[in-house]
Amino acid sequence: MDHADVAGDIASILLTEEQIGAKLDEIAAQIDKDYAGKDLLLVGVLKGAVMVMADLSRRLHTKAEMDWMAVSSYGSGTKSSGVVRILKDLDTDLTGRNVLIVEDIIDSGLTLSWLVANLRSRGPESVEIAAALRKPDAAKVQVDVKYVGFDIPTEFVVGYGLDYAEKYRNLPFVATLAPHVYS
Ligand code: 5GP
Repeated sequence: MDHADVAGDIASILLTEEQIGAKLDEIAAQIDKDYAGKDLLLVGVLKGAVMVMADLSRRLHTKAEMDWMAVSSYGSGTKSSGVVRILKDLDTDLTGRNVLIVEDIIDSGLTLSWLVANLRSRGPESVEIAAALRKPDAAKVQVDVKYVGFDIPTEFVVGYGLDYAEKYRNLPFVATLAPHVYS
């Protein structure tokens, strides 16, 4: 696909489609090992996790169901506050289920630590996390992430599901934006 129309907005590409795909091959193989013989429920967090959910889930050999949540973080601007509101809840009863939360990116970790506690309170067998990206230097709370694609520097990235003002989610790579986009 030709992304020439947004090419002028991209400052640099951090992770290519090929790099992401190769990493997801490894993670899917590990999940297949870890969940052998178990029923797996993948929980995607809208909207950012759409790409990683699609790419990771189709690599699995383990039988898996998928469900989705939408949450909003109350906070100022782009900063997460840890106060979370459920905009769309799961359709699935979690009692006795092995839940794997599939996330786009872990920044402060506040949203995810709230989400893990919320899902754990519903009586599942297990709750684990798979995240495509993590910013280790931005962590405000420790979140135990079982599967991580890439640790990246603390800078704002778009693509591969991640947006800026709802744009750039469709890019197949992870990139930083040129300064003119923000002005
Ligand atoms: P946390 O609660 O970990 O600070 O925030 C996680 C959420 O913030 C992510 O699911 C994502 O929606 C958003 N976020 C964090 N860092 C970035 C980033 O670099 N780019 C974009 N587009 N969104 C981000």
